[in-house]
Amino acid sequence: MKVLENEPLKKYTTFRMGGNAKKMYFPESIEELESLVKNDPDILKYVIGGGSNLIINDERKFDEVLCLREFNKDFSDKGNGRFYIGASVRLQKAIKSVNLAGYGGMEFLFSVPGLIGGALYMNAGTGRKTGKYISDFVVSVDILKNGKIQTLQKNECGYDFRTSVFQSYENCIILGGIFQFPKMSAEEAQKGINDRLELCKKTQDMSYPNFGTVFCVSNARIMEYFCKHHIGFKNGCTYSPIRKNWMLNREEGTFKQAVKLLDKVKRMHKLFRKECKCEVRIWE
Ligand SMILES: Cc1cc2nc3c(=O)[nH]c(=O)nc-3n(C[C@H](O)[C@H](O)[C@H](O)COP(=O)(O)OP(=O)(O)OC[C@H]3O[C@@H](n4cnc5c(N)ncnc54)[C@H](O)[C@@H]3O)c2cc1C
Repeated sequence: MKVLENEPLKKYTTFRMGGNAKKMYFPESIEELESLVKNDPDILKYVIGGGSNLIINDERKFDEVLCLREFNKDFSDKGNGRFYIGASVRLQKAIKSVNLAGYGGMEFLFSVPGLIGGALYMNAGTGRKTGKYISDFVVSVDILKNGKIQTLQKNECGYDFRTSVFQSYENCIILGGIFQFPKMSAEEAQKGINDRLELCKKTQDMSYPNFGTVFCVSNARIMEYFCKHHIGFKNGCTYSPIRKNWMLNREEGTFKQAVKLLDKVKRMHKLFRKECKCEVRIWE
């Protein structure tokens, strides 16, 4: 297995931020992952998939980081729209492979730069209004928990808006899952992809590194204020001036700046007695 020393974590996050990992492990199979975890259960403390929903402290050295990009790229067609998809498979690749087999439904995730494992962990999907999630297609999820491989049926996965039971487990790795998709023509699937990409052009700000939506629960007017007033640090982290609930790292952003900006929004919500909850995961 590949093990890198003193590896800069900023390379692995879409926000381009993070200190170094003293050791970064890249298991290449489930067996390698199992034996790594068996010998060193602490390895599960810092786990990274696609790195598209993470803010990592840039002033810290992390002893050990586990990268899940290589360990399970399996994709198998079980027939009648049922597929097994490994946790290391990129969402775009999974969607295209399902479409190629004449099925679909998950095209709304084509814009999400994550892996199947991260998407199952976050219950990735569209916003609340349209309400489409990866969990709509989940039959079961395989996990490695307390050193044992287990299969959870969908009703045991605690899926809700950007929530899953896996977020409450310590020491748990999602290995992959069984999905069930409806039949879909290639044209319909491509239209789903194009529609999603068109929508994202209008609703996302890709001018600088980012991690997607900042808060999964927030007040629209408060987030509008932070966007309108372009609150942030010059050449550093800032709320996007054109998309609300969106943070950018303008080249020289620091972890301290990102945390300050998150805190400002949280304080404003508290002041107006509104609810807010961070969607992005933070490694302090
Ligand atoms: C441009 C952009 C657009 C986005 N659009 C959307 C969107 O439309 N909808 C949406 O829901 N999200 C969106 N996101 C956020 C993000 O892409 C999703 O949350 C994605 O599912 C995260 O997957 P990942 O593999 O990158 O996870 P990571 O960022 O690597 O990890 C996220 C969390 O999951 C844990 N994790 C990752 N893999 C595993 C695993 N196999 N087992 C156990 N834990 C694991 C990590 O420890 C971490 O806590 C967007 C992000 C960006 C940058």
